[in-house]
Amino acid sequence: MNKKENITIAGAGLVGSLLAVLLGKRGYPVTVIERRADMRGQDVDSGRSINLAMSERGLFAMRQAGLLEEVHKLLIPMTGRMLHLEDGTQVLSPYGQRPDEKIYSVSRELLNSLMMSTAEDSQNVAIEFETKLESVDFDRKEITLSRDGSTEVRSYGILIGADGAGSKVRSSLAKAADIGFESDFLDHDYKELEIPPASDGTHQVHREALHIWPRGGFMVIALPNLDGSFTVTLFLARKGSPSFEQLDDAESVKTFFNENFPSAVKLMPELADDFFDNPQGLLGTVRCKKWNYEDSALLLGDASHAIVPFHGQGMNAGFEDCTLLMAMLEEYQENWSKVIPEFGRARSPDANAIAEMALENYVTMRDSVLDPKFHLKKEVGFKLELEFPDRFIPRYSMVMFHNIPYDLAYRRGATQDELLNQLVENCDDVEQVDMELARQLILEKLDEIDPVYMGSTAL
Ligand code: FAD
Repeated sequence: MNKKENITIAGAGLVGSLLAVLLGKRGYPVTVIERRADMRGQDVDSGRSINLAMSERGLFAMRQAGLLEEVHKLLIPMTGRMLHLEDGTQVLSPYGQRPDEKIYSVSRELLNSLMMSTAEDSQNVAIEFETKLESVDFDRKEITLSRDGSTEVRSYGILIGADGAGSKVRSSLAKAADIGFESDFLDHDYKELEIPPASDGTHQVHREALHIWPRGGFMVIALPNLDGSFTVTLFLARKGSPSFEQLDDAESVKTFFNENFPSAVKLMPELADDFFDNPQGLLGTVRCKKWNYEDSALLLGDASHAIVPFHGQGMNAGFEDCTLLMAMLEEYQENWSKVIPEFGRARSPDANAIAEMALENYVTMRDSVLDPKFHLKKEVGFKLELEFPDRFIPRYSMVMFHNIPYDLAYRRGATQDELLNQLVENCDDVEQVDMELARQLILEKLDEIDPVYMGSTAL
């Protein structure tokens, strides 16, 4: 394709904005169509969660986009999970064991705004706000847009659907081709709340942690913001007991929180108001077998692989889509006719793997973290990583601190889990583990990891 040909991106969310930065830097003229108003300098609904956890794959993308220095100013490190147990005690469970093994809380709005401004600064990118993509005619390579009550049909050279989990590009594509689209909603929803800053502007609980109040079948989590507040999220069943359905007035909300999260209630003076002001969000997984239409249209980010948020990987995976797409453009010398059909084929196993790991991590966060065996396996995993760093890396670390393809991390994780179960079977302390058996099992079952995948979350 001639670089002058027009690339249209549907959606200036996290993935669409990053892609615009990266393609603009490569010299492509890009038009981004965004249905919302420009969030910069305005109080508009910035979409879903207020803050997000960024990890190695996201940081890698920021480095590639030349944005790390600016993004660094927006990040708050989180070194581990701060578990708030029912008896009121707090226990910090570190995510990793090297000093740089941290994840970072970042504001969705500030990050999105930074990427939009950077994209526009490149002079190759124009973002059209308050313009909605209504439908796509893939054979004619035309999109229908609506704005201010009028519609326009416009042609495109290449169309990238980065329009999120409810993607219109995807629904048009599903009518034009068999893309094997599936969506599964969880029977648990979420609601965002807030822990405001203390009167002196500082954080009311430990700033550098992801706080969890795990309660078996449900949980509350909190991620820090730069202004001293925390964004709190309740994850709970939609129906049954306990459930959102039962929380229908201020009294029932207060009673539920007082019974289950008394240490959090003390920090949330506006709890009942926030509860009824904020929407109850759905959580789901989107899978597509095919992500493209011939060599002219491609789905990326949540449009092709939305996942539940429990591994903090939806945005990170979408950012990795962008960096892998750039690597593929490089490999195929900017030949989009090869890249577009190949991309989804190569990437969808990874998308499916992180979708599964994200679902599994809900149980880990709300329940397994309460089980002493979980912590023993984690400690043994860290010990094995220190002894065999090129063969054994805990699955959480493979996903969060390295760029090991998700599918490989998933498969290695399953082997490692079997091995850990065998090693801890008759132990209740890390020192009791038979390290000679561990060595034999690791050499037999786990080959060396390609060093090219090793990451560093050091900033
Ligand atoms: P979106 O961010 O949804 O952006 C899509 C954009 O397209 C939006 O701007 C939208 O307005 C626009 N659009 C939609 N339809 C149209 C249309 N028809 N025409 C024009 N524009 C349109 N991920 C992490 O990595 N870490 C986390 O900690 C994390 N926490 C999360 C917590 C919650 C509660 C949720 C729900 C998600 C979380 N995620 C997290 C996932 C993350 O939010 C998504 O993976 C990410 O936003 C996907 O980016 P995207 O650009 O593909 O889609």
